[in-house]
Amino acid sequence: EDICKPTGKIEDASCDFETVETINSQFFRRIDDLRKTDFFRYYKVDLFKECPYWNENGLCMNRACSVETSDESEIPEEFRSKRLSSVTTAAPSEVTPGSSDTSCSCSSTEFCHLDDENSSDAVYVDLLKNPERFTGYAGPSANRVWKSIYEENCFEGVKFVEPARPLSSGGSGFIDKSLLSGSSALGGPAGLSSLMASLQAPSDSGENEQCLEKRVFYRLISGLHASISIHICHEFLDQKTGQWSPNLECFITRIAEHPERLQNVYFDYVLLMRALSRLGDSTEGFSLDSGDRITDRQTIEQLDRVIHNARECPSTFDEAQMFSGQTRESFELKQQFRQHFRNVSSIMDCVGCDKCRLWGKLQVNGIGTALKLLFNGNEAGERKPVRLQRSELVSLVNAAHRVAESLRAVETFREMYQEQRKLA
Ligand code: FAD
Repeated sequence: EDICKPTGKIEDASCDFETVETINSQFFRRIDDLRKTDFFRYYKVDLFKECPYWNENGLCMNRACSVETSDESEIPEEFRSKRLSSVTTAAPSEVTPGSSDTSCSCSSTEFCHLDDENSSDAVYVDLLKNPERFTGYAGPSANRVWKSIYEENCFEGVKFVEPARPLSSGGSGFIDKSLLSGSSALGGPAGLSSLMASLQAPSDSGENEQCLEKRVFYRLISGLHASISIHICHEFLDQKTGQWSPNLECFITRIAEHPERLQNVYFDYVLLMRALSRLGDSTEGFSLDSGDRITDRQTIEQLDRVIHNARECPSTFDEAQMFSGQTRESFELKQQFRQHFRNVSSIMDCVGCDKCRLWGKLQVNGIGTALKLLFNGNEAGERKPVRLQRSELVSLVNAAHRVAESLRAVETFREMYQEQRKLA
């Protein structure tokens, strides 16, 4: 019996779980090499922006929450900011998440509030020196942020909710919590059901019948949340021994008992793959802002290989099904979708732990860039080449890497679970 081994078609996507798993072994290696190159490892970010929605006092004082920034002199010269940013964002001073985004001065194609790289508060971060992992950030501050993000998922007063309790088993796999060390602390009975193949079970999108676009919005944020949880459990700090190691109990409680969360991670994966594949599209491709070009031949080749890999899955996600029809309604829905996603990106400035804020901003920006690449059609349905800033491309590649790494981590947890069963 296997845990977290979904099978069949991924809901709302055009691909199946097995294909993703097959592709990921090679894709992960390639994107892992790519993100280590100089172009992709340095990210310029403003970690000091004020939370536009509430007074955030929940600053995380744990050492693990801090970010080691890089001095500009450490950054290869060609990547240093040397121009005025073409996009500036004006954060609303005191607004409620969900209220209309009137003060946004970003271009109409953006799905995110991008940081102004020329702000004196923007700093360079070497992502390799600041891995995303367990920091100990939790409690009311973290909860408030997640809650606000899920509230953005509320279109026209209707929002998706997770099922109140884990879905029942779809037929294969039972998690035996008694196998876990310290399981008594969980207080749950052994043999908890739920699982993986329950991906055939009803969708997690609540009881209301929702249109594809609204389901996609929910899946994107739930998939991101689940992926972050997987990273936390995979690089977990045992506070007694001071050792970093995967924590199976953490994974079972946060992910395995909620199979729809894992399904949403696969969903994010296919959407990001689809966006990466669009980078290689010669007619509808992208261009980087001047001054942001990739000049290193090896990096270009590595990016090409990643794009090639992303194109191997012929149908990952069919964006043409979204906002289809040249109607006023579908145009308005797209505007709403974009605005809500922008709000999610500005909620990231409310995260009270610098390391979490860094990776939250980067991953939301990465998904936003993917959306920008996929939904670049104008009102008349004509596609325009997409113009990206360096930070958008860096965040797209790193966000795809994080999700690919999550799927690798799930394999580790499957093996750990099997080991525990053998020993029991
Ligand atoms: P949380 O993960 O806080 O979840 C809150 C509630 O949301 C749950 O009770 C559940 O009802 C619901 N929920 C959970 N997962 C899903 C899902 N996938 N889909 C739908 N609903 C869901 N901590 C770190 O240690 N390292 C980090 O790098 C880090 N990055 C973060 C980035 C952001 C943007 C935020 C907001 C938080 C981050 N945190 C990080 C904190 C971390 O995500 C958790 O909030 C924290 O570990 C407490 O977890 P929890 O078990 O209370 O539930």
